[in-house]
Amino acid sequence: MLDIQKIRADFPILKREVNGKPLVYFDNAATSQKPQQVIDKIVEYYTLYNANIHRGVHALSQEATDLFEASREKVRAFFNIPQAKQVIITSGNTHSINAVASGAHVFVKKDDEVIVSAVEHHSNIVPWQMLCERVGATLKVIPVLDSGELDMKAYEELLNDNTAFVVVNHVSNALGVTNSVEEIIKGAHKHGAMILIDGAQSCGHMKLDMQALDADFYTMSGHKMCGPTGIGILYGKEEALNALPPYQGGGEMIDQVTFEHTTYAGLPHKFEAGTPNIAGGIALGAAVDYLDELGMDNIAAYEHELLIYATEQLKAIEGLKIYGDVANKAAVISFNVTTLHPYDIGTIVDKLGIAVRTGHHCAQPVMERYSIPGTVRASFAFYNTKEEIDIMVQALQRAVSMLS
Ligand code: PMP
Repeated sequence: MLDIQKIRADFPILKREVNGKPLVYFDNAATSQKPQQVIDKIVEYYTLYNANIHRGVHALSQEATDLFEASREKVRAFFNIPQAKQVIITSGNTHSINAVASGAHVFVKKDDEVIVSAVEHHSNIVPWQMLCERVGATLKVIPVLDSGELDMKAYEELLNDNTAFVVVNHVSNALGVTNSVEEIIKGAHKHGAMILIDGAQSCGHMKLDMQALDADFYTMSGHKMCGPTGIGILYGKEEALNALPPYQGGGEMIDQVTFEHTTYAGLPHKFEAGTPNIAGGIALGAAVDYLDELGMDNIAAYEHELLIYATEQLKAIEGLKIYGDVANKAAVISFNVTTLHPYDIGTIVDKLGIAVRTGHHCAQPVMERYSIPGTVRASFAFYNTKEEIDIMVQALQRAVSMLS
């Protein structure tokens, strides 16, 4: 059982007011808030041991290096990754996906097929389109059913011996639906294809076990799991990361450089050219510690309770339609009320201190699928409460009566 009031006290931003009202923060799918423990780590780094990592013999550099590498180890353990060198520290989920797609010509050849799903964030569509254009491969799309679930029968039919890569998100940011990734991964592997799972919306909300999941690559955003912005994770199987060429050239990622020929460093450094976000990397370790202490199963259970409660309360609003109203979903609710514009609803509830997201959520094909310009999206985290949901429902009722 989580002590929500105690948890809330760790998040300084939750004490502030917005437009004269207590903040109700329901835009967690865009970015989570940060506990004091994470904020303190960032300040601590710049105050006490700001130095570049990996190449200094002096004490500060070694302290910073040790803490940065300790974070990598925390991430490894948290996600049950076999070796720390399989944890690549990136600048974010988008960077992690691009790091794979940029080198994926070693896996995807001319006339091969890359399968994406119809519920992807633009950052898990565009890099693969760019890859397909570069190598002369074809992009295929797993359709989404009215329920918001992927059409798994269609997926089975799309798979064939030309399938070289499959990419899907674990949880859709636009609908909140959890995809059957275990089945999708098995299907890809059965056909000898590589698979990348975009975990931007699953990390920080459910227990993840990279070895049990068996994806070749899995990408995550630090800022969506209580860590700072500008930090992300790329996990890969060792043989997959070894086969993938580096995304960027520069310092740190080399073994030997001459003008004739350069050899690359081993994992993880091959993918970590240049000075990384050191403070962010160290603070990511504090975020992992924080989540680990609460327990991911506790977090998932409590967020599910919030989801069920909010879904029931929202359904009482006349004309409200939820997209992706299925049992297997994360605590994200995407909805519209009659033909009211989501932006208008979002603007009114903001005046009442409530932060929700409105628009296409960087997933235009999903909106096109439902023939809507966008949705209002309320997304919850473990520091939210049922009382806050009541405040949102009242505010929505007010917005609807003002706009109707
Ligand atoms: N994929 C999904 C499913 C997302 O929700 C997001 C962030 N909204 C991204 C990718 C991109 O992540 P980032 O902006 O952290 O790079």
